[in-house]
Amino acid sequence: MRITEVEPILLRGETTYQATSGAEEATDNGDWQLLVRVATDAGITGWADVETLAPAAVAIISGQGMSVLGFHTLGELLIGENPLDVARLWDKLYIGSAYYGRRGIGMQCISAIDNCLWSIRSQAAGVSLARMLGGRRRDRVTAYASTLFRETPDAMAAAAHGYVERGFQAVKFGWGVFGEDPGRDRELVAAAREALGPARHLLVDPGWYPAGWKGEWRPRSRRESIAMCRMLGEYNVGWVEDFIHPERFDEYAAVRAESPVPVAAGEQVATTWEFERFIRQGCVDVIQPDLSRCGGVSVAIQVARMAEEAGIDLVPHSWLTHLLTGYSLQLIATLPRARFVEFNVSQSPLTRGIAGAVFEMSADGTVPIPDTPGIGVEVDVDFVRAHRAN
Ligand SMILES: [Mg+2]
Repeated sequence: MRITEVEPILLRGETTYQATSGAEEATDNGDWQLLVRVATDAGITGWADVETLAPAAVAIISGQGMSVLGFHTLGELLIGENPLDVARLWDKLYIGSAYYGRRGIGMQCISAIDNCLWSIRSQAAGVSLARMLGGRRRDRVTAYASTLFRETPDAMAAAAHGYVERGFQAVKFGWGVFGEDPGRDRELVAAAREALGPARHLLVDPGWYPAGWKGEWRPRSRRESIAMCRMLGEYNVGWVEDFIHPERFDEYAAVRAESPVPVAAGEQVATTWEFERFIRQGCVDVIQPDLSRCGGVSVAIQVARMAEEAGIDLVPHSWLTHLLTGYSLQLIATLPRARFVEFNVSQSPLTRGIAGAVFEMSADGTVPIPDTPGIGVEVDVDFVRAHRAN
C-alpha cells in the first residue's frame, strides 16, 4: 500500500469563539477548521481534525518546501510511502520539518497526519484502532460536558441543570469570565456545585491567562494559584486544569504539592520528550494529551505508558469535532484505568457538521466506544465540500 495524497482541507464557518453571559451555550472555533485527509492506492482513507492556525497549516502540509532537510513540507515527505510504517514516518516528518517545526503548527500537522495513518493502519487490518493498539479494556466511558463559564451564578445554575437533564454525570466549566474576580469565581463555582448536586463531577479549567484577555498577560502568583485551588477544594472540584503558563513545569509541581484539588494539564504539551519531563517533574495528577496537538496517537500511546508508570490518570483533551472525540475514545478503550471522555458541548455549526452526532449518551452518562474498523466516525463529505475554502 502506498500513500497517494496528503490533503489539507480548509473549512470556513460563520461563527466565532465566544463565551456567553447567560445559560445559552458557548461556541468553539466556528470560523476556521482544518481537516487532513490521507489517501492510499488501496482505496483506504484516513481523516483527522486538527486544532491549529488552519491557513498556515495548509502551507506546511501542501505548500512549497525547500531543498534543505528540515524545511520540507509534510505532504512531500509522505507521497509514495507505505502508510503502515507509522513509527518510521513520524520520525521522517519530525526530521523533515525540524528547522521550522518541532512544536506548534508543525507538530499539530504531524499529529493530524499521524492520526490518519493510525486510522488507515487499523482499517487495513479490519479492526478498531483500540484493537490495533493492544485491545479494548472497556466498551463505554463516562462523558463530561465541556463548556465555558457563564457570567452569573443564575446562568451557571441554569446551564448546569441543562447538562444534568441531558444525562451528564460530569461537567467542566472553563475560561470565560473566570479569573477576573475571585469573589465572583467562588459564586460561579458554588452555583454549579449546587445545581449538579454532591454526586456529579464538577471540573474547572481556570485558564492560564486572565479572562477578558486583550493581549495582556498577568500570571497568577503562586499564592494566588494555591488560594484558588483551596477555594475549589471547598466545592469538591474533581480537578483544576491548565491554569499555569505551559512552560512553567516547576510552578506546576510547586502548586500541585499544595493543592487539595487534583491538578490536570498537558493539552499544551507535545512530543514524548516533553511529556516525559512534565510527568517526571510531578506536575500533574491527570495528564491530558490532545491527540491533535501532542504528536498524534503515536505519542499518546507512549504518554499512556508513562502515566501508568507514574500512577496518574490520563484523560485526553478533546474539544474539537467528533473526529478528535473518536480518536480519543479509541485510546481511552485501551487504558488500564479510564475516567472520562471530554465531550465538546460547545461545537459551532462548523465543528459539529464535519461528522454527524455519533455518540449517543445513555442514562448513566456513558457513551459507547465504537468497535468498527478505524475510529468509527464518518466524515460528512457533502458538508465538507460545502464549507471548503481552499
Ligand atoms: Mg483546557
